Amino acid sequence: MREYLLYVKEEENALRAYITPCFHIDKLFWQERNGQRLYVIGRSPSLALAFALREKIGTFAKRRRLTAKSVLEMQRLAASYVREANKLYVKEGHAGYRYTFRAEPIKRENLPPEAGHERVSEEAKQLASILSGRSLLEEEAEWLLKKRGRFMIPMIWLLQWLVLMNKTEWRPGVGMDIHKHWWQRRLRFICWRCSSRSHLVRTECHSCRQPCVYCSSCLTMGRSKCCTPFICVQAENTGKGCQDSGSLLAWEGEYTPAQEDAARRAGQFAVETGGEAAFLIWAVCGAGKTELLFPAIDGVLRKGGRVLLATPRKDVVLELAPRLQAAFPSVTVRSVYGSSEEKWEEGDLIIATTHQVMRFYRCFPLVVVDEVDAFPFHNNKQLHDAVSRAVAKEGKLLYLSATPPERLRKQLTGSTAVLKPHSATHVLLARRYHGHPLPVPEIKLVPRLMEKVNAGRPVAELISAAGHMLAQDRQVFVFVPRVEDVDTVLDYLQGLLPAYAEKMAGVHAADQGREEKVQRFRRRENMLIVTTTILERGVTIPRSDVIILGADASVFDEASLVQIAGRVGRSADAPDGTVLFLASHRTQALYAAKRQIEQMNRLADKRWAADGKQQKAGRKR
Ligand SMILES: [Zn+2]
Ligand SMILES: [Zn+2]
Repeated sequence: MREYLLYVKEEENALRAYITPCFHIDKLFWQERNGQRLYVIGRSPSLALAFALREKIGTFAKRRRLTAKSVLEMQRLAASYVREANKLYVKEGHAGYRYTFRAEPIKRENLPPEAGHERVSEEAKQLASILSGRSLLEEEAEWLLKKRGRFMIPMIWLLQWLVLMNKTEWRPGVGMDIHKHWWQRRLRFICWRCSSRSHLVRTECHSCRQPCVYCSSCLTMGRSKCCTPFICVQAENTGKGCQDSGSLLAWEGEYTPAQEDAARRAGQFAVETGGEAAFLIWAVCGAGKTELLFPAIDGVLRKGGRVLLATPRKDVVLELAPRLQAAFPSVTVRSVYGSSEEKWEEGDLIIATTHQVMRFYRCFPLVVVDEVDAFPFHNNKQLHDAVSRAVAKEGKLLYLSATPPERLRKQLTGSTAVLKPHSATHVLLARRYHGHPLPVPEIKLVPRLMEKVNAGRPVAELISAAGHMLAQDRQVFVFVPRVEDVDTVLDYLQGLLPAYAEKMAGVHAADQGREEKVQRFRRRENMLIVTTTILERGVTIPRSDVIILGADASVFDEASLVQIAGRVGRSADAPDGTVLFLASHRTQALYAAKRQIEQMNRLADKRWAADGKQQKAGRKR
């Protein structure tokens, strides 16, 4: 079992506390530099405890000298901390944290005899280049190393060398401390990988046989726990100061004037040194947002920087990767998601699902966050922290959304009531790529709507609207608030519109035949689909209309309503369509969504008129 040693080192007028898994490495390191006045305080097999003690001792040691008295004080301090932690980690039959004061290593640390300063620093350098820009649990790092290189010296020792050189940071996967409140004290845990403070589970750990806690929040990414080092290695190259290689973009499509303006602004933001750190592209549903990123991505890549594009869903990763590869044929594009083969490969342009972002460390001068308002990003502080951690020092964060969350809107578009078309931190693309306005939803209030549907009583507003759409040979999305409503509403519509009964289907998240049903709908074999919010994004069907049944339910918030309305009229040959919100009660979200859509259309009209004038003026000259 590995042990972590806590020691202090005398530096100018102060003592500094260090932790090491291998004291020899530290001695070797300091020997070469400013001699060694190192004093071992104690050792423990618990990494989390060792870090908590370093914090405690570190604070105490500031402005103190290395004397017999101060050493004794530090040892006492450590002992009382361990005692208290053990008292707080109450559990029947648990031995508690182990901590000893033995100053010198008990077992000889088997450092190979040839592992002198040169060898260690050479291998550490190699290691740094393999793990460059990654934040990984120890097992992940070991695994990656096995694939990439051969090392004589154990990885954790080399890492310690890099830590001492300030090129790497490490911490326990789950850290602990004693939290003092005015009336009580308790052990507090935090997952350093996903920054979760809840969902931390106490466990009998077989690897450290110490009080140990693991994080269930990020468990799908491997087990982050008290005894697993979480390692963050600085990126070697973030493209700073590199020569511009000239444009790498091979895309030959054309922008509308509004798109061009948005793309240019985002591009400027991405490459300017200093300036704003975050920027929002607010592009309405169907504005063609991927292409807007091209100048920004190009600007960073051509200077040798790498770009990360984070998106909520794997199917979006799979759809974007070939498009971006085609646009940038000379760069290495990687798709990174849970089961991806390319997950560990290096690349210039990484397209990753949200959670995978946790595995990168300050290495991208540009991180693009797509659909920042969607699950799992929305309101998830952990993922936002992970995204910030992936951005290189002085790097940039570019958000992309059709319905940005309130917090971002306030932060980046200014908090004034009147929406500005652009600022230093945002640009608004209010018109779709085909130039037609967004279909404005129609709100109809039907008292006791869902009761009537559940009782099978005809609701004229619903039946006539759906019947009319189907008669026009248009496809219909019927959104319902709950999974249970899918079958009820499907039965109900099949009963009341018997002529189309064969061509109706219902789908929800846990539905086994979900993919197949959506495919049939795409092929126009089904003409009406009853669905929950799972089809809120992503599925685009030309010539389709939308009905939201029970639009006053709380699952349909403003953003969700705008997204759903955004399903309609996306293709250039059928830019119109009907969006119908059926509700029993008025809700704020219903009207806010409608207002937002109308506001976008007004802004786009204004812009359209201005562009027209400009063009005329241009012709006159
Ligand atoms: Zn976690
Ligand atoms: Zn453990």
